[in-house]
Amino acid sequence: MTSEKVNKIGESLTLKVTAKAMAMKAEGIDIIDLSAGEPDFPTPDNVKEAGIRAIEQNFTKYTQNEGIPALKEAIIERLKADFGITYNQDEIIVSTGAKSSLYHLIQAMINEGEEVIIPSPYWVTYPHAVSLANGKAVIIPTKEENGFLLTSDQLKSAITPATKALILNNPSNPTGAAYERHKLEQLADVILDEDMFVIADEIYGNLVYDDFRFVSFASLGEDIKKRTIVINGVSKSYSMTGWRIGFAAGPTDIISGMSKIQSHTTSNPCSISQKASVEALRGPQYETSKMKSEFQRRRNYILMRLQSIPHISCFKPQGAFYLFPNLSSYYEKEFNNVLVRNSYGMAYYLLKQAKVAIVPGDAFGTDQYIRISYATSMENLEKGMDRIIEALSQLKTAKKVKRIALNNALTRVKKSVPVDSSISVQMRDALVAEMESHLSYQNYFEWNANINGVIVQLRTNVSHLNDFWIENWYPAQLEADLEPHGIIYAVDGVAGREPHSFYNSETNTGIVVNTDNYGPLRSLALGLVIDVSERLFSVHSIRGMSADINGRGLILVGPKGTKKTELFYSLLQDQRFKLHSNDIIFLRFSAGATQADSVERKLFLPTNVVESYSILAPLFDNSKCENVLTRKEDCQDPDCLRLDDCRLDRGSPYCYKASKDARALVDPYWIDGPSKHVKRTSLSWVFILRYDTVSPPYVEPDPEDALRILESGQTLGLKRGLSSSRAQPFYNPHLMVTNAERIELQKNFFRRLLETIPCYLFNSGVASAEDIIKIVTGETKSE
Ligand code: PMP
Repeated sequence: MTSEKVNKIGESLTLKVTAKAMAMKAEGIDIIDLSAGEPDFPTPDNVKEAGIRAIEQNFTKYTQNEGIPALKEAIIERLKADFGITYNQDEIIVSTGAKSSLYHLIQAMINEGEEVIIPSPYWVTYPHAVSLANGKAVIIPTKEENGFLLTSDQLKSAITPATKALILNNPSNPTGAAYERHKLEQLADVILDEDMFVIADEIYGNLVYDDFRFVSFASLGEDIKKRTIVINGVSKSYSMTGWRIGFAAGPTDIISGMSKIQSHTTSNPCSISQKASVEALRGPQYETSKMKSEFQRRRNYILMRLQSIPHISCFKPQGAFYLFPNLSSYYEKEFNNVLVRNSYGMAYYLLKQAKVAIVPGDAFGTDQYIRISYATSMENLEKGMDRIIEALSQLKTAKKVKRIALNNALTRVKKSVPVDSSISVQMRDALVAEMESHLSYQNYFEWNANINGVIVQLRTNVSHLNDFWIENWYPAQLEADLEPHGIIYAVDGVAGREPHSFYNSETNTGIVVNTDNYGPLRSLALGLVIDVSERLFSVHSIRGMSADINGRGLILVGPKGTKKTELFYSLLQDQRFKLHSNDIIFLRFSAGATQADSVERKLFLPTNVVESYSILAPLFDNSKCENVLTRKEDCQDPDCLRLDDCRLDRGSPYCYKASKDARALVDPYWIDGPSKHVKRTSLSWVFILRYDTVSPPYVEPDPEDALRILESGQTLGLKRGLSSSRAQPFYNPHLMVTNAERIELQKNFFRRLLETIPCYLFNSGVASAEDIIKIVTGETKSE
């Protein structure tokens, strides 16, 4: 029979999730564990060696209860060096982990019924440690908008005559939030007016990122130091969780109270670990800084992936190694009849469906969130995030629940804009100066995209463009001094100018003026990248829709009106075909093959493709959209308007088919699962499309003829009545520089391509996807 006290507390949930993940792993299930509360790096060698030396020197007996003087000294030195706080030996106690220091502290300090203020989200142990001391945990929720920080007003209003202490975890587990000096000072002002203490859990104090300056609460002044007990340890900073060494620094009477309790619980912490900790604290500190920069890189990566998930928010933490996204918009959704109702349900769903272990936010007092730990390899993080994103995309609105609103931006400009791609350097300079004068710092967005190895920097004052830009491309490394290959200004609100794009090839500068829709910006970026890749890297591009079958790729090239989209999506219905790209691929000749790369992180799809490929509709529901129509009055589809059953009439808040200008940025891995998409293939067939009723289904022109057709970019026997598009050299509207020299470069490239792989002139007026399948699977030879 356990005590009532124990019956009230749960086991640490972090441990439970990790244990469950480990058990599943043991069963042979490939689990990615993103629940770890400890760094994944080895303990530094010098530290391990110090431990071994301790054993060799038989330093394996009881030590002083509060820790050996050498370790206390090393702690005093480090607290002084890192945080500028001075302590004496009798103000320090070393324990079996920081958790043990904290437990002994609360036991030593709290009388029955006394209150301890704990901001939430909190580290799981705090409320339990307080209730085990018969104290009362007073939970004060913080807000994501306030950076998950406790404000001085919140603190003030939580204080009662029974208040004994505040537990301030800085930086925080689970949010990673950290307090700047002035925020701590505001809290300290409140504390000093009251008869209370601060338990400053600063175990992640050395793990802060970017330029954040960590400040220890005790360093704010002598008065506040007398009211502060700092909890810290070697577990996190030196990757020494298993060695179990933590410590507390504070007023002598409190430390000696802790010492009494410790003498009846654990006695001294492990002698060997104490010796190793002396080395950790006194020895070289570069392993910690290495770990820190790796954590920072991973934080940025996960954050970037999280930001790509529709309908979730994630605070950017300053420290620790956790991210705490709000996934509540995926609650009340279901997959395979499993309804996700809360953070536990989400953790369960992700474990079962995605085989990823995370910790539910409820364990930290905040049910809307989950905790993702990035204390694991980059490879695991990539895999884990792929799986989470995939699993979230499968969650569908549960039947009885109202559907969430579409993430849709309506722009003023709807279509493509005129492009002048041959402006002089002088004109470029003048335009740049004009654009810069419209980029005020309050409304300025900048982001480097890595588009097939070409770094393109966007500078814009349109948050929607920045939003789509970040969503569309892979990010370039986050380095302030990274030199982009090209820069694009996308500036709105320029008086006296029509929507227009400009490009100067000498300086690789693009300018998009007064154009708030994304299409023209994306097209300009692709044009810039095509230009730069051809000149600098001999990498070429081909415009079309491409798919992979068994590692070999085919591309459908051709103008509008040749049923390219319909053909492409019927090909994809065949399970053997994988989506490669919907618009443009980059090619390089390599080892006798033509390596073809799809370079977009998210595909920019016209939403009316749902007519050809209905499985996209639910994916659009979860994607960022542009100009999806929400009112029947705006519908442009006369055929559909004639029918009775308009979905807008039926209460749907939007229609994907109603406008040709509506777009969505869709994660290709969401389309029928990750195995249905490849980023790279070996281009093996080109199909140039035409559409008429008289030409043969397909012919294989000789390479020079095929080249002529491609170069002319003329429409090919379009069915009468279909709108014919403007001639585009190589059917590529993204090609910006089309002077004789560059056309020659293109021709040389295509000549070489067409000499190495077969090219078909394919008449979609009489032939179908079946014919393409026959050609590429070798079931039939061409005519
Ligand atoms: N405080 C916080 C906020 C923590 O996250 C942890 C470990 N998860 C601890 C204290 C305890 O650390 P130790 O391993 O030293 O007991």
